[in-house]
Amino acid sequence: MSGIVELVYFATAVTFILGLKRMSHPTTARSGIHWAGVAMVVATVATFFHPEIDGRYILMLLAIAIGGGVAWMGGRKVEMTDMPQMIAIYNGMGGGAAAAIAAVELIRVANDPALAQGHGPMALWLGVLGALIGSVAFSGSVVAWAKLDGRMKKAMYFPNQQWINLAVIVLAVILGVVIATTTPSGVTLLLFFVLALAFGAMMALPIGGADMPVIISLFNAFTGLAVAMEGFVLDNAAMIIAGTVVGAAGTLLTQLMAKAMNRKISNVLFKQFGGSQGKEQTEIEGSMKGVDPSDAGIQMAYADRVIIVPGYGMAVAQAQHKIWEMVELLTERGTDVKFAIHPVAGRMPGHMNVLLAEAGVPYDMILDLEEINNDFDTTDVTLVIGANDVVNPVAKSDPDSPLYGMPVLNADQSKNVLVIKRGQGAGFSGVENHLFYLDHTRMVYGDGQKVVGEMIASIKTL
Ligand code: NDP
Repeated sequence: MSGIVELVYFATAVTFILGLKRMSHPTTARSGIHWAGVAMVVATVATFFHPEIDGRYILMLLAIAIGGGVAWMGGRKVEMTDMPQMIAIYNGMGGGAAAAIAAVELIRVANDPALAQGHGPMALWLGVLGALIGSVAFSGSVVAWAKLDGRMKKAMYFPNQQWINLAVIVLAVILGVVIATTTPSGVTLLLFFVLALAFGAMMALPIGGADMPVIISLFNAFTGLAVAMEGFVLDNAAMIIAGTVVGAAGTLLTQLMAKAMNRKISNVLFKQFGGSQGKEQTEIEGSMKGVDPSDAGIQMAYADRVIIVPGYGMAVAQAQHKIWEMVELLTERGTDVKFAIHPVAGRMPGHMNVLLAEAGVPYDMILDLEEINNDFDTTDVTLVIGANDVVNPVAKSDPDSPLYGMPVLNADQSKNVLVIKRGQGAGFSGVENHLFYLDHTRMVYGDGQKVVGEMIASIKTL
């Protein structure tokens, strides 16, 4: 039976990879998720036939009922705008599960050192490393979830933070070496896990707004690696392959995100992110000047070249369909319209692309930051809808700003700027936006969907 179970695990692992491949394109992404989901169900069913299960079916069914039930209910209820925090917490659960598996195995080995021979020395080292990485991913993801869900302050600092973080991880690694090379006591094991968990949380504490995407994808990569390592401990092919795939995909995503944010990954671990925290931000001159949606619509209608910058607020307002309706009207009038997408606009990678694709916006109208950033100075109107941090020019000019160094869309360089937002609220990073105070910027206050509806009505009167 073990041979058949291994064969099924291998087949499911291949299906995970094929599913992931399908997720790389919007048209096949949905089916890719189904493929991976079916593979996960098959792998779970196959586990019931694994010889080492030894009749513990009730426990397995209980775990599936609790975990599956909570995830099913959460998945059905979750708002699209709350997806990032859901992904962060489920991602953390993966790391936590890997760390829990490691904890059980390490306790077993501590109680019966002969078992270590069975596992082999390599598996023991991988088990300890997986425990460390999984614990970090778990507690770090919980903090990321709390921040994304608005339950915690965005960036939290304390004196000598980097040195304390460094001391905690060095201690955890030393204890890890002790565990892998000796027969550890219960206290050593406990301290090791406490330090690893503390490091994950402390690593995420100082990460503020603009840098969250990097840390979230880093924890995602950590979870994958931890699962793969525990797969070696349990000799489980599905875990090894699925974990490696997630680890590799997460690592690539982390690199892409870090490149897009102009950050070094090493800074995530041991340095302060962004500018110098706690310092006064540059005083803003000028004031925010409002304009009616109808006047804003007319200004759009008479522009030759328009760039639309969508952000998180467009997702909140679910304004993508109205935006597309307006773009169709404008293009009928001969206006050249393009969408400018910042790599971290919204609250998850590809957030804006998904929303615009859902509304039917053709891909050739949607341009990435580096493709469009030189076109703003020849643009008549830039319409910013629900975007804030990704168009904040302080990222280019104020070394003391937490956003400093992050590439931003050059909306400030266009001839006129219209900004749709509900009020004076800051973006995710909490940093004031200098764009809103410029002489050629007008604020169109109101909910994104409602405002664009009124702009459409005014364009139709022309
Ligand atoms: P921001 O979060 O910076 O700003 C969103 C703006 O939308 C707010 O200023 C808000 O202003 C406005 N808004 C909210 N609701 C509405 C509504 N119903 N109608 C109109 N406007 C609305 O968004 P950006 O997309 O510019 O930037 C994304 C931020 O999120 C970055 O800091 C990024 O680092 C971070 N992040 C990104 C992740 C990713 O993977 N993409 C993951 C985690 C974080 P007001 O309240 O006044 O309406």
